Amino acid sequence: MTETSGAMLTPHKAAFHLTTVLNMYNVAHSTARFPVDVPNLAKHCHEFFHWDDAIEKVVGADIDNFEGCLARIDDDRGWAILYNTSIQSSGRVRFTQAHELGHYVLHRKVRSLFECTSEDMYAWQSDERKIESEADVFAANLLMPLDDFREQISGPVTFGQLSLCAERYDVSLTAAALRWVSATDRKLVLIASNDGYVRWSNSSDAAFKGGAFFRSRRDLVEVPLESLTADVTVTRELEGVLVPAKIWFPNARTGTKIREMKIDSEQYGALTLLELPSTEDVWAPWSP
Ligand SMILES: [Zn+2]
Repeated sequence: MTETSGAMLTPHKAAFHLTTVLNMYNVAHSTARFPVDVPNLAKHCHEFFHWDDAIEKVVGADIDNFEGCLARIDDDRGWAILYNTSIQSSGRVRFTQAHELGHYVLHRKVRSLFECTSEDMYAWQSDERKIESEADVFAANLLMPLDDFREQISGPVTFGQLSLCAERYDVSLTAAALRWVSATDRKLVLIASNDGYVRWSNSSDAAFKGGAFFRSRRDLVEVPLESLTADVTVTRELEGVLVPAKIWFPNARTGTKIREMKIDSEQYGALTLLELPSTEDVWAPWSP
């Protein structure tokens, strides 16, 4: 068989290919399908693509400034994935390993060393860092295949459902929520905030097209004072409560309600999920 060229693979195609392999293996051996055993997959990955340069080891290392790293080893014959041993969360380690595997599958012809920070991992829809965002899209697709994810969500999505998905795939709640927001046809906006300001936000395509997004990378965006997110007496609202859309989107129609869900974490601040009615847009009225 001929070698599959890495240059032809998109993050989605590459992850889909490996997902198919894992599905077949799972059926043949009756092993647990989730969470994905990334180190084991990484060591066999070259076989599935018919490549010579294998990933020879996946090991924890003392790499203070980085979350993970993919590097050439053994006189350029193979590769190693390193991950930061000081990270306690197994979900973050798993996502990091999958991200580095993504660099191997997609970018190993371009560079021989990839050193990645946590900022790279969670900026996975930003355009400025194409390589990093491709590795993140690969990781999200590999760890949380959409057909399986869709089976876990019924009715309007809640943080409760997303938390169960995070457990199923052993990823962070943030990673699971980002995955769902990137895939849903509903109007969802995911917001991470700290000390009253939006750190980053991510809108589903439908929400974005309806004007529901925040330019938190460009502007300082304050969390609205009347929002559930700003209410320090509420630390968890998993199912969501209906609030006036105008609180978050001043141009929304009076009377329109959105569902606001929230989880506080001492470590990361608040994670908020807003769901808008599918029929409502919140663009400012057009004026010439
Ligand atoms: Zn990276």
